[in-house]
Amino acid sequence: MNQAKRRTVIAGNWKMNMTPSQTTALINEMKTTLPAEPACDVVLCVPFVDIAAAKAAAEGSVIKVGAENVHFEEKGAYTGEISAQMLTECGVEYVIVGHSERRQYFGETDDTVNLRLLAGVKAGLTVILCVGELLGEREKGITAEIVSLQTKVALRNIDADMLKKVIIAYEPVWAIGTGLTATSDQAEEVCSIIRGVLAEKYGDDAAQGVTIQYGGSMNAGNAAELLSKENVDGGLIGGASLKAADFAKIVEASNQ
Ligand code: PEP
Repeated sequence: MNQAKRRTVIAGNWKMNMTPSQTTALINEMKTTLPAEPACDVVLCVPFVDIAAAKAAAEGSVIKVGAENVHFEEKGAYTGEISAQMLTECGVEYVIVGHSERRQYFGETDDTVNLRLLAGVKAGLTVILCVGELLGEREKGITAEIVSLQTKVALRNIDADMLKKVIIAYEPVWAIGTGLTATSDQAEEVCSIIRGVLAEKYGDDAAQGVTIQYGGSMNAGNAAELLSKENVDGGLIGGASLKAADFAKIVEASNQ
């Protein structure tokens, strides 16, 4: 990370875990374990039904609340979906788009990810865009091509001003929820490729300002090493964000 040039952001992704009452209990516990003045932004992206409980419990703390997805239309006949305006009115500040689980299980494509990202940014949300290669793609040596393409398509119609509301999370799919972590060198290599894609489109200055996280089994034990890399500006944390002590240690690692 390079805290002189950009924000470090540690964000939890709770996935389909925690009820509202469990949300209140976990955030109350986190308020006792998290550093009072972290060197990073701390975000919890929670299931839609937990947003109200998360907002209430997080009030007055360093924790900001995010959602795990957003629909691209403003309203209408989209049963089961949630709009950006619904999120902002609930006090949500961040939203994840393009998580590999959405791509894998719910038919999300680079095009729909682009539309969701646009809707989120236009509504004033900070959007965490997930990109990352499958194991087979890494083995074929096409990680750079896959991640660059995902990034380029997702950022279609996003101008330099809108880019200020975008965080990119490099999440190698083979490392998510598997206990396998990319080495810090692998994470740095791909995060720096992503920054190169941004520099080509927006210029070097704008690219240097973008927070690029690593995600994939980041935990209390490996966070400091991953965050020590110049282009790794934080983490998107699944499993370890459900444990107050572990999540606090990851946040502390940004104080190094
Ligand atoms: C994630 O859900 O984005 C993630 C990185 O999960 P985990 O940390 O559990 O691998």
